[in-house]
Amino acid sequence: MQWNFSDRAASLKSSAIREILKITEQPDIISFAGGLPSPDTFPVKEIKQAVDHVLNGNDAIGALQYGPTEGYVPLREWVAKQVSRDGITVRPTQVLIVTGSQQALDLIGKALINKGSQILVETPTYLGGLQSFTQYEPQYVSIESDEKGLIPDSISDDMAKSASFMYLIPNFQNPTGRRLSLERRKQVAELAKKNDLVLIEDDPYGELDYEGNRLPGVYTLAPENTVYLGSFSKVLAPGLRLGYIVASETLINKLVQLKQAADLHTPSLTQRIAYHVIKEGFLEKHIPTIRALYAKRCNAMIDSLIQHMPKSVKFNRPEGGMFIWVELPKTINATELLAEAVQNKVAFVPGEPFFANSTNIHCLRLAFVTVPEEKIEKGIKILAELIKKHTA
Ligand code: PMP
Repeated sequence: MQWNFSDRAASLKSSAIREILKITEQPDIISFAGGLPSPDTFPVKEIKQAVDHVLNGNDAIGALQYGPTEGYVPLREWVAKQVSRDGITVRPTQVLIVTGSQQALDLIGKALINKGSQILVETPTYLGGLQSFTQYEPQYVSIESDEKGLIPDSISDDMAKSASFMYLIPNFQNPTGRRLSLERRKQVAELAKKNDLVLIEDDPYGELDYEGNRLPGVYTLAPENTVYLGSFSKVLAPGLRLGYIVASETLINKLVQLKQAADLHTPSLTQRIAYHVIKEGFLEKHIPTIRALYAKRCNAMIDSLIQHMPKSVKFNRPEGGMFIWVELPKTINATELLAEAVQNKVAFVPGEPFFANSTNIHCLRLAFVTVPEEKIEKGIKILAELIKKHTA
């Protein structure tokens, strides 16, 4: 059968990196590649109890029947309460429950991007965000960034005025692990207000701050301008596929129409399971255990990097989240290094696909949360040996 794919589908390329990374699913590989949360944090017992509760109770029919596109009302109310902070009140009607925040990115692309629309993105930014938006053929404008994240001063009023939106991940960004400072958050908020710029604040890692020093979300500083995306993937389990969008009712209503066409609604069953698990404050006890585990693994990786890497390799010390960003000497191409690393049973993700425009081939992302401490040390040592071989 000869398939005649649409121009949109035909233009999608399968990436060479993805092909190499398929090998990393083998059990003998030490993988710093996947952006997966640690399964040690999955609340299996609580989820089991919730499944029993939902299916044994009188809401079994609600859990198994079609439901409203907007989402399960108690869960929308819970989200509204949760994100009502720092002086901001969010109404449940401003909340749309989605099938993971990845769906939010796709729906936002559909709702706000025309062919050629300008979109401001961080340098680098989340690969999955680029994948979602690219389907709608925007023109990316890369915002200058440094080790503190995006640089608001590099965005002119003209850039802000002509953009359809700016996409940003202020907390422990994927792929860099960087957190935007309070001062820069305020600057972004002022810029948005002044120029009627829409901000898409993607925040799956916001709760994973090791010291518990949360910074206010951009949506609380510029609520009219901001679309806030949250996720249960990193605080409960990604297999539930549950995320949410918080925005003005006008945008939510449009996104509801688009979601209806995509999948009618987020599964009734998973929404009820999650709600039953979290409704009585479970996350307040659970999240600190995730933070403690991730902080321990982060420290193990930083210690190993300090001990084994040559001085020419630069890396950051994240204050939360799941990633460390590494800059290699300019003589080393990270994709070529990956091929060698995989032969030596270690994997990571090269930085290249995280750049919207001109790319940097000398950097890579290390995810540390799924690897036990002793293997972190072993894996980093192997990587360091390979790098030293190229820099000697
Ligand atoms: N945004 C960012 C920045 C991410 O890192 C991820 C997951 N890796 C997502 C969105 C998607 O998360 P989910 O669909 O599981 O909520």
